[in-house]
Amino acid sequence: MIPAGFVQELLARVDIVDVIGRHVPLRKTGANLVGLCPFHAEKSPSFTVSPTKQFYHCFGCGASGDAIRFLTEHLGLGFVEAVHELAQQVGLQVPQDDASPQQREQAQRRREHDATLAGVLKTAADHYRQQLKASPRAIEYLKRRGLTGEIARAFALGYAPDSWRGLASVFPRYDDPLLAEAGLVVVHDDGGETKRYDRFRDRIMFPIRNVKGDVIGFGARVVDRGEPKYLNSPETPLFHKGRELYGLFEARTALRERGVALVVEGYMDVVALAQLGLPNAVATLGTACTPEHVAKLLRFTDRVVFSFDGDAAGRRAAVRALEAALPHASDTRSFRFLFLPPEHDPDSYVREHGREAFERLMAQATPLSRLLVDVAQAGCDLATAEGRARMLAQAQPLWSQLPDGALRRQLLGELARLGGLGVDELASLWRVGASPPPATRIVDARPAPAAPRRGGVLTRQPPRRP
Ligand SMILES: [Zn+2]
Repeated sequence: MIPAGFVQELLARVDIVDVIGRHVPLRKTGANLVGLCPFHAEKSPSFTVSPTKQFYHCFGCGASGDAIRFLTEHLGLGFVEAVHELAQQVGLQVPQDDASPQQREQAQRRREHDATLAGVLKTAADHYRQQLKASPRAIEYLKRRGLTGEIARAFALGYAPDSWRGLASVFPRYDDPLLAEAGLVVVHDDGGETKRYDRFRDRIMFPIRNVKGDVIGFGARVVDRGEPKYLNSPETPLFHKGRELYGLFEARTALRERGVALVVEGYMDVVALAQLGLPNAVATLGTACTPEHVAKLLRFTDRVVFSFDGDAAGRRAAVRALEAALPHASDTRSFRFLFLPPEHDPDSYVREHGREAFERLMAQATPLSRLLVDVAQAGCDLATAEGRARMLAQAQPLWSQLPDGALRRQLLGELARLGGLGVDELASLWRVGASPPPATRIVDARPAPAAPRRGGVLTRQPPRRP
């Protein structure tokens, strides 16, 4: 719990013009500043920031709020994350009622260390970007993939030269342990002798940024031939593959504007799709989709389309994505699963058939409800009692992940029908709605207590999606 008094102090200390100015170019008109609204698409600025009121307001879409609201809305940060972010910007320490002084000090040290690591990664990213300009071969490769300089800049693409100690020219100490901790330098023990060398060599560099825009790691692709084709930063204190999505920072405005996210498999797909007019794509980082990935996307949009290759591996990846989406599949959200023809990835499909055709595919992709039933039926002969029973056994762990709502209840009905049972029989088989012990039921019958207010206008409001 963050004390309300601290939030007020924090908002008094930060300047909303600085906070928003980091993300939106603003210019002064009279007492206020204006810029292009980050929450809706517009050509002339109707987004206004008032330094006296410390509020922003958009006359186009109605978005408005204080500095904390801006960070939660624009960057998709949680309230607590946004408070920490602002506190760090003005050098305040967030008091935590329930933390001991040691815990607080530890947390503070960890944040400082993370900031140092982020600084190291930023220096490396700047270096790789400069190196791209100096490498006609790497530029030629990107051109061959149809990318313009503008898109390369938007994604801050870079190039790691073919050198074992390229980063030695950028950092004062090549043996600084921070370089290894950031995943930039590989340290290995060669018969008692410690060897150090650059992890990324002769590769196109894709900086992976968190929602705040800080570089937290890299994806890297070979320029021509070589193994492995794709190489990611290792897990570090800043970078966790199971949580981060490539392109989320770059896509954040498009996700709100288009109202739908496309999840693809590779970073090259993300960049190529942005080039082809689909800036709302993100990619997992060489790992299956996790519930945390899905939760992160849902901060920006309620509709998600996962795209897969049409082969067996794609099918397996789709099942993992289904499992990741199920706990989040409330009635107002939509998840779809797009299986591309075997000869295509999203990039090549759009090139061949055009953006509209691809968007039609997205709109018609398999809904979560159908995929769940398909997966449950796999290998089951529904003409036999055994097959139907097996289908139900396969469906139960998937279905039980769904949050309660109309979708969950309809699927229970559909699975019952396919399984040759009455819906009540299936509910009792799966012990759905089984009466809890009386004591529990009395507690459950009461309405949930209202969340405590944090005081006045500072109460956290639910995210609004224009
Ligand atoms: Zn607006």
